[in-house]
Order: sequence, then structure tokens, then C-alpha cells
Amino acid sequence: MEQAPAATRDEALDRLKAFVPNAGRAYAAQRNNASVDAVSRLSAPLRHRLIAEPEVLRAVLSQHRLEDAEKFIQEVCWRSYWKGWLEQRPNTWAAYCGERDQAFEQVADTPAYHQAVAGRTGIACFDDWAQQLNTTGYLHNHVRMWVASIWIFTLELPWTLGAHWFLSRLLDGDAASNTLSWRWVAGLQTAGKHYLARADNINKFTGGQYNPAGQLNETATALTPSASKPPAAMPGWPVVEALQASDALLLTDEDLSPDHGGLRIPNGLAIAVCLPDSAASSSSNLAQAQHVQRYKHAAAQDTVARLQRAGHAVATPTFDELGTWLAEVAPRRLVMPWVPVGATRDRLMALLGDLDMPWAYWQRGWDAAVWPHAQRGFFPFKKRVLPTLSDLLA
Ligand SMILES: Cc1cc2nc3c(=O)[nH]c(=O)nc-3n(C[C@H](O)[C@H](O)[C@H](O)COP(=O)(O)OP(=O)(O)OC[C@H]3O[C@@H](n4cnc5c(N)ncnc54)[C@H](O)[C@@H]3O)c2cc1C
Repeated sequence: MEQAPAATRDEALDRLKAFVPNAGRAYAAQRNNASVDAVSRLSAPLRHRLIAEPEVLRAVLSQHRLEDAEKFIQEVCWRSYWKGWLEQRPNTWAAYCGERDQAFEQVADTPAYHQAVAGRTGIACFDDWAQQLNTTGYLHNHVRMWVASIWIFTLELPWTLGAHWFLSRLLDGDAASNTLSWRWVAGLQTAGKHYLARADNINKFTGGQYNPAGQLNETATALTPSASKPPAAMPGWPVVEALQASDALLLTDEDLSPDHGGLRIPNGLAIAVCLPDSAASSSSNLAQAQHVQRYKHAAAQDTVARLQRAGHAVATPTFDELGTWLAEVAPRRLVMPWVPVGATRDRLMALLGDLDMPWAYWQRGWDAAVWPHAQRGFFPFKKRVLPTLSDLLA
């Protein structure tokens, strides 16, 4: 059943409240079944940080024992793991962007590519899911795995174009979770492991709705990874613990509720919520779908309204107008909730480089504590994070 995306903090909290009773064994038993409604659908508000991981985990642990809700907790931790992994390997994002741009030049005019993104391949399940992605911006996790696998191994299209297709159409489109999940399906993330969509698995986990027997390449080999680079030290960005009255605060689509993450905002502080700049990119290959732009806009508007209700004046410049806004408010320093590796950071860094303005990040305690553990695979990450969960959430 289609649900409207939670585009405000209150809607996200309501959805969390409604989901929490199902986050225990029922989730573990049913989460892979794409034909039932067993998952939380919290990914878009989590991605934009209308709510954050610790709030979700606290709510779940208030009603379930860790061992009963471990599967759900692990899935939330996958998000944190991917974020921390990419943060320490920004070159993986840069390499993806470079390969994607090359692939656009080579493949984006071919019929095979157009048929795939329009959902006209003749593989009924893939075509239906493509339509669902293009119109709603949400796909179940298992469906994402099947779609990515069919794209790479059956349609033999470049994985970077598929990853971009997802990133530009998913309401939860996230540089880390998306790029690294596509790499994982392709066999580029974990050496020797790739994910092959199989007709019988699709048939089983769609409750018999689809059976693409004979249509899928079920024997393809993994793509070949280039030599992997070891993690780099977390970048030494300037980090502040608190805001000063002479600062300006800039919020982006990467974190829209630092006010609920421990950041105290002084009265009278200059604040901007930088709305997605849809017009600037609408003609390029990299444009976000309209439903994604609408979601981001609604989430940003919710943040503006929330801050205004708390008595703050909030500006809403576009990225292109940020320089003018900063010149007007003339802060001593610009502070931003951490902007992780991805398109928003790429744009901001280019802009800040031109502006010659002192700036710093404010980082959430959860991210600071868990991201550095994303050194290797998820298993060692989980082993470090889960035993300390109650301290992390205290
Ligand atoms: C090819 C591919 C691309 C993906 N792209 C994205 C993306 O751009 N953004 C994104 O948030 N997730 C992505 N995922 C992960 C996952 O599919 C979604 O987070 C999940 O389907 C969202 O639905 P939900 O909120 O109902 O999840 P639930 O099952 O209810 O899980 C709760 C939360 O945990 C996190 N989570 C769950 N599964 C994963 C996972 N495998 N990896 C990372 N985080 C997870 C999400 O924040 C999610 O909201 C991708 C997975 C694949 C296979």
C-alpha cells in the first residue's frame, strides 16, 4: 500500500510511533518480503535528518529488548556504517562521479539505457519497479537489490548510471547508502561477493506477483574492482561544540533538525535554510526528479516553520544566493551541521572556497562516536557499536 512520505518532523515522529510495536521479531521475520508492509518507511526523514538514528533507536529500545529488535537496529546501523565508511574514503565518491559522467557520455543516448529508466525493458517486474521509482521515489530494500542486480548483470548497463538513476529519484537518495549499496550489488564493495537476482527468489518474496524465469542472467560474475584504497583519517575539518551569537548557522538537506540533536541556537542568530536549487540543475543529467525536489522543499519548509515558531528569523537563500546572504549578515564564522560526502558538500566546498569566510562544522555525538568504527566491514563495526549502544543513547 502506498504511503505518503513523511516530509515533516511531526509526521516522521508519528510514523516512528506507529512502527515501533512492529520493530521486533515481526520485522525480522517479514522485512525481506516485498509484498507485505513490514518496514518503517523512515528512510527519507532519516536521510534528511528530520529525525536521527538515536531517536529511532531509543524509541525502539523503549518497547523491545535488544535481542528482539536486533535486526531492525542493525539496519539503522547500516546507514551509519555506510556514512562513516564513505566519510573516510571520499575518493570513492569522487571516482563514482567521474565514472558516472563518462558513462553518461558513452551510454545515455542508447536505447537500452532509455528503455531501462523508462521501465520498458520487457521484464515485467523491473518495468513496474522502474515506474514505481520514477513516480513515488520509494522502493523496498529487496526490490532495490533486484533492480540494481538486473540493471548491472542482465541489462549490462553501467552501474554508475543506475546508481545515479536511484539517487536522483529516491526520496531517501543518499550518497553513502546508495553508492555503496550499488557497489555491493556489483561486487565492487566486498571482494568476490556480488548479488544476483534470481527469478525464484523474486517469485517467493513478491508473494507470487512476478516470476521472470528465463529472463535474468543468473550466472554473471562480479564486476572487477580496481585496487581498493585504505581508509583515510577523518578529514580535519574545524568542529565546534556550540554556537556563538556572532556566528551564522547554515542548514542544508543533510541535517534539518540540529535543534533536536543537541545544538542550542542562541536567540537572534542569523540562520539560513538553504533550499534545493532545482532550477539551476533541471536541464542537466544530474537533475533531481520533481518529486524529490518537492520532498526536499517540504522538509526544508518544515524546518523553517519550526525554527520560526521557536522565535528565530530564518532566511531561505538558494545556493547561488548564499554569498549575498552572508555578505548581508556578515557573521564572524559560518557554522553548519556536518555536511557529509556527497553532492551538497561538493557544492558547498566550491562556494566556501570562493568566499574566504571562516567556517566550522557542528557534529552530532552519534556520528562522532560511530563513524570512526567504519574502518572495514559491517561485522566489526557492529561488534564495536552494539555493545555500547546504551551508553551511546544515554
Ligand atoms: C541498491 C540500493 C540502493 C539503496 N539506496 C539507498 C539510499 O539512497 N538511501 C537510503 O537511505 N537507503 C538506501 N538503500 C538501503 C535501503 O534499501 C533503504 O534504506 C530502505 O529500503 C528504506 O526503507 P525503510 O525506511 O522502510 O527501511 P527499514 O527496513 O524500516 O529500516 C530502517 C532504516 O534503516 C536504514 N536502512 C535500512 N536498510 C538499510 C540498508 N541496507 N542500508 C542502509 N541503511 C539502511 C534506513 O535509514 C531505514 O529507514 C539502498 C539499498 C540498495 C540495495
